[in-house]
Amino acid sequence: MSELYYKSTRSEGIKMTASQAILQGLSKDGGLFVPESIPQLDVSLQDLSRMNYQQIAYEVMKLFFTDFTEEELKKCIDRAYDSKFDTKEIAPLVKKGDAYFLELFHGATIAFKDMALSILPHLMTTSAKKNGITNDIVILTATSGDTGKAALAGFADVEGTRIVVFYPKDGVSPVQKKQMVTQRGANTHVVGIYGNFDDAQTGVKMIFNDRELEKELDEAGFQFSSANSINIGRLVPQVAYYVYAYVTLLANGAVKEGEPMNVVVPTGNFGNILAAYYAKNMGIPMNKLICASNENKVLFDFFRTGTYDRNREFILTSSPSMDILISSNLERLIYLITGENAEQNKKFMDDLSSVGKYTLPEEMKAKLADFCGYYTDEEGTAEIIRETYEKENYIMDTHTAVAAHVYKQYCEETGDTTPTVIASTASPYKFTRSVMAAIDAKYNEEEDFALIDKLHELSGVAIPQAIEDIRSAEVLHKTECEKEEMVDTIKKFLGVK
Ligand SMILES: *Cc1c(COP(=O)(O)O)cnc(C)c1O
Repeated sequence: MSELYYKSTRSEGIKMTASQAILQGLSKDGGLFVPESIPQLDVSLQDLSRMNYQQIAYEVMKLFFTDFTEEELKKCIDRAYDSKFDTKEIAPLVKKGDAYFLELFHGATIAFKDMALSILPHLMTTSAKKNGITNDIVILTATSGDTGKAALAGFADVEGTRIVVFYPKDGVSPVQKKQMVTQRGANTHVVGIYGNFDDAQTGVKMIFNDRELEKELDEAGFQFSSANSINIGRLVPQVAYYVYAYVTLLANGAVKEGEPMNVVVPTGNFGNILAAYYAKNMGIPMNKLICASNENKVLFDFFRTGTYDRNREFILTSSPSMDILISSNLERLIYLITGENAEQNKKFMDDLSSVGKYTLPEEMKAKLADFCGYYTDEEGTAEIIRETYEKENYIMDTHTAVAAHVYKQYCEETGDTTPTVIASTASPYKFTRSVMAAIDAKYNEEEDFALIDKLHELSGVAIPQAIEDIRSAEVLHKTECEKEEMVDTIKKFLGVK
């Protein structure tokens, strides 16, 4: 098999192996790593439909991570997708009403981030070995709530690594916060910043681009990498579950071979839906990729108008993991639709950081036809949770609800009857307060764990271990800082200077 290399979205001439790209996270020119081409699946859809999740994950990842041996990759996969997941299927596809919910929240931290972050630490340590790295790897992560915990859980006590997570102090749910600040592991650090997610993400990106700091840390035996979805080691494992979803539909007779599916993805940083786009380009039959936003509807506006404009109020919603105005992974799509023109892409991204917006020319806008964007407000989110509970006895989380409501709008508007998969990105137990308030306002009065027990009574779904774990857990991380103090905070953790 020929080697697949990675290049940057912002300049020509960078060429990395997969393991190097995973280790580095972000390209030195500020761009994101992308494969030189998107590989084609080399086994038939029929054959894939007879495989389990781990086997499918291997068939996808072997095409992207070509410098890993079969043995290395299979070891990473087996260590990731094991009994940390509470179901052997790993990502069950559940039909409710006229949609298929792809439940991506059965991992250790009950959000879809586990799908990639349970394997990333293994990919990272394998990559370090392959490249003869002796520094400790410091994972820096900005989180809107779910990445943080999933990354902490994945990297806790992994030898040769440290992890520092920055979250917006007042921008995550109580359960999300409790999950993070109770994280065990001597190599874990959690910091609340006085700012929103975009502040945290911008701060982390600036640190990655700080060459002086890089040198200083190297001398002290450290190097940074990223567990955010800008890391190609996050994106590729996510492609696997779209392949899995399609071949499961095929195995169930819901589609015939070659017939397309739609996907609806509750979107924040654009990583999850981009993985669906990669799956489509690998040969999975897809009709529409429906991008669902909450009231931070930058992407909705973008798909309608061709202008990406982050100059607007940042709204805190009941789907905090989608409260994002700068969707980092969109850059990989923009790069593709420029015809892989790094210079043109860089111009758009420079405009985004200097004036907060850019506009695609008409001919580029036309290349977005695979996608469509919709959004839902807080009322619509609550309404679909209540309605689906009453009709289907199925309780979904607020993020999934944004997607479900968007799907309802999409059907009403288009009449499209293509079988549709909704990416179900979190357990309702992670957002219990908002979920229960949506079902009935009377629950507003109760305290968090009483509500969790009520949710259990209503849904009959077992309370996940991740929730039981934090009931009585001790708060271990109390650091907070201004966004200007992020570098100093990291240095203090690492004992540098
Ligand atoms: C991260 C997250 C999202 C958004 O995913 P992106 O890949 O950033 O678009 C949606 N829902 C939940 C529950 C999440 O944790």
